[in-house]
Amino acid sequence: MAKEKKLVEEITSMDVDFAQWYTDVVKKAELTDYTSVKGCMVIKPAGYAIWENIQKELDRRFKETGVENVYLPMFIPESLLQKEKDHVEGFAPEVAWVTHGGAEALQERMCVRPTSETLFCDFYAKEIQSYRDLPKVYNQWCSVVRWEKTTRPFLRSREFLWQEGHTAHATAEEAEERTQQMLNVYADFCEEVLAIPVIRGRKTDKEKFAGAEATYTIESLMHDGKALQSGTSHNFGDGFAKAFGIQYTAKDNTLQYVHQTSWGMTTRMIGAIIMVHGDNSGLVLPPRIAPTQVMVIPIAQHKEGVLDKAYEIKSELLKAGFTVKVDDSDKSPGWKFSEQEMKGIPVRIEIGPKDIEANQAVIVRRDTREKIVVSLDKLSAKLAEVLDTMQKDMLERARAHRDAHTYDALTYEEFVKTINEKPGFVRAMWCGDQACEDKIKEDTTATARCMPFKQEKLSDVCVCCGKPAKAMVYWGKAY
Ligand SMILES: [Zn+2]
Repeated sequence: MAKEKKLVEEITSMDVDFAQWYTDVVKKAELTDYTSVKGCMVIKPAGYAIWENIQKELDRRFKETGVENVYLPMFIPESLLQKEKDHVEGFAPEVAWVTHGGAEALQERMCVRPTSETLFCDFYAKEIQSYRDLPKVYNQWCSVVRWEKTTRPFLRSREFLWQEGHTAHATAEEAEERTQQMLNVYADFCEEVLAIPVIRGRKTDKEKFAGAEATYTIESLMHDGKALQSGTSHNFGDGFAKAFGIQYTAKDNTLQYVHQTSWGMTTRMIGAIIMVHGDNSGLVLPPRIAPTQVMVIPIAQHKEGVLDKAYEIKSELLKAGFTVKVDDSDKSPGWKFSEQEMKGIPVRIEIGPKDIEANQAVIVRRDTREKIVVSLDKLSAKLAEVLDTMQKDMLERARAHRDAHTYDALTYEEFVKTINEKPGFVRAMWCGDQACEDKIKEDTTATARCMPFKQEKLSDVCVCCGKPAKAMVYWGKAY
């Protein structure tokens, strides 16, 4: 018994030390490992399988909107990076440089892509000539490198995986429409698949992407009350097009600049899944993203017919379209339960001699630990229902947690007190002046997460300076 408990006891309680709990879950659920490469991670099979499912779901949703995948080089010559002034200033502090090819110094150094706007612009300048070449709606799945000083698995690492979409359009309206469309794709994906509720809104100028006219974002709240930027979509207007000379001949034979967008989502979302849904027994994966949805755990598997029944259940459920494994190792059932819970597998099915005799099995939900006894004749129908309910419950629980940790502040005193004492979002009015954002960050470390599309008027004046307010902002301390 002592041995069985060990697996769980090795995780720090999330209420004691959330950061340590996170690190423990990542390690014990075997999602990543450290490597000799400083600031980078090894993504292990259990972690990579989640990313593969994220890719599959997003890629399908992208393609439904007309997106095509491409692949561009991972190196960017310095002269190319420098073409758009705001962009280079934003990224220069964290790029890694390649200066040599073998023993020979390069004539021009190249950075390892931190993001690929400049490469896509260089490509589009050649590719686009006429209005007939538009729109271009391309995406690439790749890794990028940003030389971060402090790193954490999934949340911040020097190399991470992502997708970056880059589009070019004939008109400003079309670019704006695409920017919003992709933000909505991300938001729907987060809510429907990851069971993570999001706030959709616009970034302030201070927080927007380097070189963008407007950045839209989805923001989510982790269990510890910190915010996580979960996906962004940028409208570049014709700024990059002018810097890179991306022009097309319009129907009326005039020469026009294209309007561009870009949008991205990263392996950070695995960190979000952990921090929104996890508990003190480990990871809890929403059924729609879990690489394995069901673990069949035989009880008294040495007894005749038990393992056979477990395999029979597995093959029946596989046929019905579930992802299923059988834990037929020689570990004790208690140990197997702990492992299934640690790995966040949404349900386990317990099957033992008594169950077989009664023609039943026991479904146990990972999130609530509710035990559901079900006739073997109705197993797959019941399982579908349980997973569906669990998916919905997880979203609702996360939404209730977020709403319970969202506060309004009308005065600066109230704002500072709330943001420092109550982890969560604080909604407050803002005058639009960056000086107030700077002061708030200085006083509290909180940042403007977004100006939500669904605006409310909490008062007429800025919470910080008292001047007339222009927008309601969600403020928070962020990852
Ligand atoms: Zn102000």
